[in-house]
Amino acid sequence: MKTILVTGGNRGIGLEICRQLDKLGHRVIMGTRDLEKGKKSAAALSDNLWVKRIDVTDESSMTELKAWLSEKFGVLDVLINNAGLGTSYFELKENNLAKVGYKFTSKIPGVSGIIKSAIPVARKTGLLAPKKTTVNVPMNEVREIMETNFFGPWRMVQVFLPLLMKSDDARIINMSSGMGELMGLDGNHPAYRISKASLNALTIMLARELKEKRICVNAMCPGWVRTDMGGPDAPRSVEEGADTAVWLAASDEIPCGKFFRDRNPIDW
Ligand code: NAP
Repeated sequence: MKTILVTGGNRGIGLEICRQLDKLGHRVIMGTRDLEKGKKSAAALSDNLWVKRIDVTDESSMTELKAWLSEKFGVLDVLINNAGLGTSYFELKENNLAKVGYKFTSKIPGVSGIIKSAIPVARKTGLLAPKKTTVNVPMNEVREIMETNFFGPWRMVQVFLPLLMKSDDARIINMSSGMGELMGLDGNHPAYRISKASLNALTIMLARELKEKRICVNAMCPGWVRTDMGGPDAPRSVEEGADTAVWLAASDEIPCGKFFRDRNPIDW
């Protein structure tokens, strides 16, 4: 049985990772920004799953959890840096769209419906703000996404490293995205792309540095998944999105220092 910490474990892919690892009999620490939300999500899971507050932009929440883990179990075998912020968060916030189901509140013909499929129409009618690209994305949006998707995982590794070093099979899994693949970079979703490209670079650096400490570091892309972030048009289920993370966390032998999708290495 491994002790595994999952950030952003209260919904989406993170919740499914917790659910599958719990089912496999591992000791799962579900990290959640909001304890009540986490407890609700964990209601159907086993007594071996612990719901703990963690906000990856708040260092004190990390050190508190580290202190609890040290006291309670004295070790961390796997850290899954799953928590993430996508561009849709800003579109929803800034455009006053009803969050439920990504549906527009507007009754204007042709612009009601699912956000992803209605985006081109909504932009033309002015209901949705113009698309942000590398040359005009507000820096506060870039910083906010970088705080969660890049600085968060980096600081998590620094804080939890002493506990990972107590494991004889320690692993770090960074939930990245194909949007961060170097050869595919363009001006579409610039803040998100740069955060995941940076996370990939961090993964390579950590994998090389921590090899001598026998800590295995990988990044992965879950594919385009039906979650709040991915939206309802995405082709993949959360089960499919979580599969590679569960494999990297729980299999006996895994490769290290790679970027995976569907259990296969892909280009950085
Ligand atoms: P999601 O449904 O939007 O869930 C995001 C999770 O991250 C939530 O639990 C959220 O907590 C948590 N979170 C956000 N900011 C946080 C913070 N500062 N501290 C701690 N937790 C925080 O997203 P998802 O689709 O499951 O995505 C999970 C990961 O997969 C992300 O890293 C994402 O970039 C990556 N990914 C997703 C897709 C996709 O198609 N869905 C594709 C490629 C990569 P709250 O509930 O408190 O907001």
